[in-house]
Amino acid sequence: MKLYHIKKSNIDKNGKGLYATRDIKEGTKIINYVGNIITRKESDENPKFDNSKPIYLFNLNNRYDMDGNVSWNTARLINHSCSNNCDYEGTGLKIWVTAIKNIKKGEELTCDYGFSYDSDYRQFPCKCKSKNCVGYIVREGSRWRINKKFKKDYRPNK
Ligand SMILES: [Zn+2]
Repeated sequence: MKLYHIKKSNIDKNGKGLYATRDIKEGTKIINYVGNIITRKESDENPKFDNSKPIYLFNLNNRYDMDGNVSWNTARLINHSCSNNCDYEGTGLKIWVTAIKNIKKGEELTCDYGFSYDSDYRQFPCKCKSKNCVGYIVREGSRWRINKKFKKDYRPNK
């Protein structure tokens, strides 16, 4: 049995989300985040990855990125929350969505999109309604080095 199912989202009123089909323990790998592996050169040059659109791009390493904006990537439906219960985690070229808290059956699965804070952050309002919601999809501080605005950062072996 899958640990998740797709349903209309509570966070994104016009979109879908993933929900836990049963209680999930912290540390459980829930779903594989999949997509097309592309070179960083391609993601830097292709207008498809323009910063003005929300993108599903992960930096895998110095050479490769993953474009998760494909219909067969169910994990792309996971919404951002300021108090997320899941996070992206991975080794090599594989990315997992892993529970970072104990999750109750029926809860919506959420991640931290990890967009960097910059002057354009207002284009991605956050509607997660959690107590500590900052109103926009940004992470606290710029802890990570990213070479492109709004690219989701991802550290292998973190
Ligand atoms: Zn929020």
